[in-house]
Amino acid sequence: MRLTTRARWDPCPNCHAWTIRALDDHTAAIDTRLDPAPLDTLAELSAALTGRRTYEVIPIAAHHEIAERTHWRINGNHGHPVFPIHQCPGIIPAGPLPIPRPRKARTNERPPF
Ligand SMILES: [Zn+2]
Repeated sequence: MRLTTRARWDPCPNCHAWTIRALDDHTAAIDTRLDPAPLDTLAELSAALTGRRTYEVIPIAAHHEIAERTHWRINGNHGHPVFPIHQCPGIIPAGPLPIPRPRKARTNERPPF
């Protein structure tokens, strides 16, 4: 599939985590992968302090495009979700994932003996 400015789901070829992938501009664009975990202000600041770029995902007509959070974009509140650039091995849950308990069979049937 040809890479365009339209954001789409794409697994990372290295760690196989799902990412949001798109070109970050119409000219002189960079192939960009984002971790699909939206950041709040504090998390975005933390990402910026570690040198990790952040992007807004912007709805445009029937698709989405991404825009880098430069100092002009960070300064204004555009109301779009913000995502960090992907880092392998992708998103790691903060804690153990819950293991669903098997449901007990609910039956009113009596054995045939
Ligand atoms: Zn990866």
